Amino acid sequence: MALLEVKGLSVSFLRQAGLFKQRRMDVIHDLDVAVEAGQVVAVIGSSGSGKSLLAHAIMGLLPGNARMGGTIIFDGAPLNAAKLDKLRGKDIAIVPQSVTYLDPLMRVGKQVQLAAAAGTDAKMRQRESFARNRLAESTERLYPHELSGGMARRVLASTALISGARLIVADEPTPGLNEEAARETARQFRELADGGCAVLFITHDIRLALSFADRIVVLYGGTVMENAAAADFTGGGERLRHPYTKALWRALPGNGFEPLAGSQPHPDELPPGCLFAPRCGYASEKCQSERPELTAVNAGTARCFHAS
Ligand code: SF4
Repeated sequence: MALLEVKGLSVSFLRQAGLFKQRRMDVIHDLDVAVEAGQVVAVIGSSGSGKSLLAHAIMGLLPGNARMGGTIIFDGAPLNAAKLDKLRGKDIAIVPQSVTYLDPLMRVGKQVQLAAAAGTDAKMRQRESFARNRLAESTERLYPHELSGGMARRVLASTALISGARLIVADEPTPGLNEEAARETARQFRELADGGCAVLFITHDIRLALSFADRIVVLYGGTVMENAAAADFTGGGERLRHPYTKALWRALPGNGFEPLAGSQPHPDELPPGCLFAPRCGYASEKCQSERPELTAVNAGTARCFHAS
């Protein structure tokens, strides 16, 4: 059974449409994702696909003007605000994308120690984690404004890595890190998953995701286009189900480097049919007018009428 299940998630915002009118804009719609204990599920997608909003929705961190629909289930029971307050930082931890989540008035070593799992030697765990993440011991005495962007990311990751949480939601934890540091961060999340933790890892870096994730969930236009095993990303992409996922795979250096023309639709201008139709070489008449459901295809799922 999945430890985290997100079912039919929608997130919308009111936006001004003219002087006196407001319009609701659906930024996430009909989004399903699940993570089991012991699993790393990487959520990939380009900027604006809804990745970070998904993390914020799970953690109850959406802004006040957001309206959320759908269900989020943790350990078999719906996750509401009261439950999140009890679980956040203990059973559920987030690695936020923004370093503004660090307390500007507290030394970072202390902040990480406060996140350490109960019953452990917090100072020792913090120092171990800093060493593993190549942060000098003296870093613990610094304040957040004294850190470089890359150091701040490693501090944020350390906070979740020593938390003992059963579920970690990592929202783009690696930008600003060099390749080796990013891979080390990924290795640590993999180790946590191998120890029974469920990890939802949000990233735009498909190659990093494939290096350690079990499953890859591909977002586009605020919803899931495909959910595939990482092992399906192989060869010329024949095992992948959705034209967008295949295009992402083939755009990688080493896989042909074939660029995908066009851009993701803005939430305000979603096409009436398949969201990918304006860029899809396989689009039929039906694709232009009907929105495909996410359906099971070969031990994965895809939102495509012609998935195989
Ligand atoms: S539903 Fe049609 S347009 Fe959409 S990805 Fe599939 S083939 Fe392409």
